[in-house]
Amino acid sequence: MKVVLATHNPHKVAEFQQIVARTRPDLEVIGYDGPEPVEDGVTFEANALIKARAASAHTGLPALADDSGICVDVLGGSPGVFSAYWAGQRKDAGANLELLLDQLRDIADEHRAAQFVSTIALVAPEGEERVVVGRWPGRLAHAPSGVGGFGYDPIFIPDAQPDGAARTVAEFTAEEKQSQSHRARAFEELIPLLATL
Ligand code: IMP
Repeated sequence: MKVVLATHNPHKVAEFQQIVARTRPDLEVIGYDGPEPVEDGVTFEANALIKARAASAHTGLPALADDSGICVDVLGGSPGVFSAYWAGQRKDAGANLELLLDQLRDIADEHRAAQFVSTIALVAPEGEERVVVGRWPGRLAHAPSGVGGFGYDPIFIPDAQPDGAARTVAEFTAEEKQSQSHRARAFEELIPLLATL
C-alpha cells in the first residue's frame, strides 16, 4: 500500500520513516511536495485534517498528516497547536523553548507536568477520514539538555524511564524515541485502520 506523507517538516518525515520501518515495513510512504494549505485550525485534529485532505486531493493517494505539539498542564494545555511559533512567526525552535522555560521559571518540579501530543489524520481519495491521537506524558526540565531530536526535545523529560532516569528526549537515541514517542503511539493506533481503506 502506498501513502503520501503530508508534511514538509524534514524531522517529522525522518521520524515517520523510522516508525514505519519498525512497524509496517510493507507500507510505502512517499513524501509530499505539493502546495501547503493554510493551517488555520485551532485544534490538532483540524490542522491534521486540513493537511491530509490537501495532499490526498493533490496526489490522488491516501494521505497521512501529523499535527503535534507540547501541552503544559499549568498553562492549561498551551503551547498546544501554537507550539511551532510560540515565540513568534519565525518558528525558531530555540526561542520557543527559551520562552516556555521562562514562563515556567518559578514553577517547581511537581507542577511541571506536560505531554507531547500527536494527532494523525488519514484521508483517502474517496473521502474516508480517520483521526488518531498519541500522547507521551512527562515534565519540563529547568534547562535544555542533549542534542538529538528537534523542537522541544531538549526540555521534555518523559515519565517512566528505566532506573528512574530523568533524561530529556534530546538525550534519547533515535530508536528509543521512535519506539515510544507520541507520534509512534498515534501511528500504532492507525495501523489497524490502514487496512480498512
Ligand atoms: P506542526 O508541524 O504544525 O505540527 O508543529 C509541531 C511543533 O510542535 C513543532 O514545531 C515542535 O515545536 C513541536 N513538536 C512536535 N513534535 C515534537 C517532537 O517530537 N519533539 C519536539 N517538538 C515537537
